[in-house]
Amino acid sequence: MLRRALLNAVPELGILANCCATPFADVASQTELAPRGARGACATGGQVGSLEATRSDVVDANRILAHEGILDAFGHVSVRHPDRPDRFLLSRARAPELVHDSDLLEFDLSGEPVDNKGPTPYIERYIHAAVYAVREDVSSVCHNHAPAILPFSVSMTPLSGVIHAARFLGADVPVWDLAREFPGEWSPLVRNLEYGDSLAECLGAGSIALMRGHGSVVVGNDPQEVVSRCISMDKNARVQEIAIRLGDYTRLHEGEYESRSSAASFGRASDNRAWEYFCRRAGLL
Ligand SMILES: [Zn+2]
Repeated sequence: MLRRALLNAVPELGILANCCATPFADVASQTELAPRGARGACATGGQVGSLEATRSDVVDANRILAHEGILDAFGHVSVRHPDRPDRFLLSRARAPELVHDSDLLEFDLSGEPVDNKGPTPYIERYIHAAVYAVREDVSSVCHNHAPAILPFSVSMTPLSGVIHAARFLGADVPVWDLAREFPGEWSPLVRNLEYGDSLAECLGAGSIALMRGHGSVVVGNDPQEVVSRCISMDKNARVQEIAIRLGDYTRLHEGEYESRSSAASFGRASDNRAWEYFCRRAGLL
């Protein structure tokens, strides 16, 4: 709590991811787990579902995923505004590890800041806007460039669920290819809403879509679920890549895959347990 209070007070101390090709927690702390329906353990105040608590979640999710190597200087996590479902909260253009509450901006579903005189936003904010616009069930989005998934975004071998924690991946993680969708408009970034809409169409009702040679978009019911999914996605990709090198390998069986609907969560209790653990690892507890 003291550390978090310091981080909030002194930002400097904060130094401490056709339309789709389809080529195919560890030890938790000893504190009591958050009850079902409650938020994770990093929260410093504010009622569950309050704007204050949501803002805290945005900061924590960015810092956790940076600490775990899912995000580096780039990538970002957003959360839908708790009182205005037509808006979402996302940092200004800043490395996720350094994101502070004062960096958070509100955006509408066109991807533009509500305050257009504020600081510079991320260029790829349109990914978030497009997903929130068509997925009422989604309350948090992560765009990342996690290295472990990149080979599967350019290979004919699909990223498939091979470990139990990543069963949300299913057998056919779709790959979105901007160059194929927009011939002659090559762009390294999702720099407008049209590109974002195309990516959201590729995502469909799923939890994840890869972006060829770029990264992924991961969505969930809340930031705790998105953090768990991103970390499990990364671990699954590492295990699958090693398994491929070993030879024949076994994917999760069809019956073991989660529905691609994000409503089919790995489990609130598991997500909260993981959130608490990763908060500790990131120095947020
Ligand atoms: Zn990107």
